[in-house]
Amino acid sequence: MASLRFKVVGEAFAKKPLEVPVPAERPAEYFGRNVFTRAKMYKYLKRDVYEKLIDVIDNGAPLDRSIADAVASGMKQWADEHGATHYTHWFQPLTEGTAEKHDAFIEHDHKGGMIEEFSGKLLVQQEPDASSFPSGGIRATFEARGYSAWDPTSPVFIIDDTLCIPTIFISYTGEALDYKAPLKRALRAVDEAATAVARYFDPAVTKVVSNLGWEQEYFLVDEGLYSARPDLLMTGRTLMGHDSAKNQQMDDHYFGTIPDRVQAFMKEMEVQALLLGIPCKTRHNEVAPNQFEIAPIYEETNLAVDHNMLLMSLMKRVARKHSFRVLLHEKPFDGINGSGKHNNWSLSTNTGTLLHAPGKTTEQNLCFVTFIVETLMGVYRHNGLLKASIMSASNAHRLGANEAPPAIISSFLGTQMSELLDHIEKADKDDLFAVAGKQKMAIDIPEIPELLIDNTDRNRTSPFAFTGNRFEFRAVGSEANCASAMIALNAAVAEALADFKVRVDRRIAEITPQFEGNDHNATFHAIIDVVREDIRTCKPIRFDGNGYSDEWVEEATRRGLDVERSCPLIFDRYLDASTVQMFESLGIMTQKELAARNEVKWETYTKRLQIEARVLSDLSMNHILPVATCYQTRLAQNVAAMHQIFPVSEAADLCASNLQIIRTMGERIKTIETLVESLTEARKAANRIPSERERAIAYHDNVEPIMHDIRYHIDKLELTVDDELWPLPKYRELLFIR
Ligand code: ADP
Ligand code: MG
Repeated sequence: MASLRFKVVGEAFAKKPLEVPVPAERPAEYFGRNVFTRAKMYKYLKRDVYEKLIDVIDNGAPLDRSIADAVASGMKQWADEHGATHYTHWFQPLTEGTAEKHDAFIEHDHKGGMIEEFSGKLLVQQEPDASSFPSGGIRATFEARGYSAWDPTSPVFIIDDTLCIPTIFISYTGEALDYKAPLKRALRAVDEAATAVARYFDPAVTKVVSNLGWEQEYFLVDEGLYSARPDLLMTGRTLMGHDSAKNQQMDDHYFGTIPDRVQAFMKEMEVQALLLGIPCKTRHNEVAPNQFEIAPIYEETNLAVDHNMLLMSLMKRVARKHSFRVLLHEKPFDGINGSGKHNNWSLSTNTGTLLHAPGKTTEQNLCFVTFIVETLMGVYRHNGLLKASIMSASNAHRLGANEAPPAIISSFLGTQMSELLDHIEKADKDDLFAVAGKQKMAIDIPEIPELLIDNTDRNRTSPFAFTGNRFEFRAVGSEANCASAMIALNAAVAEALADFKVRVDRRIAEITPQFEGNDHNATFHAIIDVVREDIRTCKPIRFDGNGYSDEWVEEATRRGLDVERSCPLIFDRYLDASTVQMFESLGIMTQKELAARNEVKWETYTKRLQIEARVLSDLSMNHILPVATCYQTRLAQNVAAMHQIFPVSEAADLCASNLQIIRTMGERIKTIETLVESLTEARKAANRIPSERERAIAYHDNVEPIMHDIRYHIDKLELTVDDELWPLPKYRELLFIR
């Protein structure tokens, strides 16, 4: 009897790549075709309306409702020309995905017919019935309604027949119910704080922009094999499966040749992404078999976050067309690498970049050092929070394993940067200054070589590495909304910079008399003083060694860094006094919002484990044990038959190994049954706990370990049971696309 498994594996391996429709033009020509870009705003809007809108987008001017109708009508005209019949407010609730509810443009004309309409009112604000989105109790306690409000800084786009309008999602009383609202507040905070500091060095600076370039990793699995794995289907990861004999040990997949079927998928995904204005640039195979990466060119953070959310949903759609499923889960397979989403982050001003060395002038070099050091200060002070910002039930499987950033946030600067900071810290202060004449001053910051960008040593074990002109936050999970990490990081840096400014100004006041009115020199001495102090303070966050080693855990504990590994406990960092103080003082989130969001985090954590535990129980009882018993029976029948044809002593000898297998299997079957019962009991006990936090802790402490044990025994059975009987596609089949 050939099993279902053999059928789906056979079909999967026989599939051919699809022909991909590619526009006749070059990518640069069709880039952004489905986006209402500035050029289109210019074309479809009256000049004064266009200028007011650009003022809103570029300078954060308040949205003048009087232009909303005119903007809506221009958008509608453009959307009509693209065949759009519907529109939607597109937002990012706390579920990790995006939400949309489509409405047709039609309205009653009050004469018995229909007219097409899209007013400014509909563009600017909607009241989606969103009572089923997570709110951590905010909506129940305060006010049932929630609003989605247009975010003019992220352009509208068309997917199929629908005009999509990026929006924030807030409660009636103004609490954020999404990721975008606090992200925008954090970006404003870092703009304000960084602009104030950057003006010490260059008074022409009026704006600082936070940039994000994400690198999205993912797995592809054939859809037939995927459907034959209830665990993948329902939890996004395999809950069982023995290692494939060959996986990534030959290092032959990384940057290897992309299989044709995958290449066709990638091509179509890229065309679609380019049409939506997502500047996709890089694609390659990743370390694990069937693992790939796509990365666009970096963009302003709010837009980059939207583009990542959009790309993730696009990937899923396009994959289906090519008979694949995309796995965005951080750890779909045990024993091989999981997927992350490196967040490359930097700051730039209206006059240049802030994290890029070397500058031409002393001012530029000191500016560079200041921003590096204050970024480290933010990361140091809030290392626990940054970890919380990337933590989830699924990312927890990846962090701390020997392939991903460790569950301790530290920063790797590379030899050159480390030496530079050490030099500034230790040098005799007079060494650092060579005052020539009254006005001119050179600061002896050692040459910062041009090579820096390409030369930054790569430390793959570091969760927050400096890579020449940016920091790379590598701990972010592949399925996460980048906004969570970007809110925490930009807020932490904003706070550090604001605090830096206060101390520098105080110091300037203290030392100005010594400089006989030379404000420029006084300012620079004050900055150097504070930078030196901060280099010393944030030293514990700098770590250039192996982040995977056990010694690092001990060392990090000594340094006072956060070494907690339990996901529900890590979420507590959101409610630390220092976190609340930071978010409240910068106007990003209130304690009430933070508390509500934590309820959502704990609840989501629990639900995911709950589902996994139930799927594992079902699979154990309905798939694995019946097959194991069946095979055991076959062996038993063999033993009985052998005893009929051979004399007892000879039969006993010949059957010894089968008897041993029968016995071991019997023990495993019994153990699995007992463990499944314990799992149910542990779940029930946890479910009775009223507090979301305590329940999540119970799931972490009492439920998850049992799942590990069950898996262990099932994976052993997989090695014993006749391959023909095994019901689930195995790792070696799931992981090698032909
Ligand atoms: P890798 O880190 O794998 O070498 P790349 O060099 O291709 O990858 O860069 C990864 C991402 O970093 C890309 O999205 C790229 O646009 C982005 N990036 C490059 N420079 C910056 C910068 N100054 N700020 C933010 N992101 C940047
Ligand atoms: Mg990278």
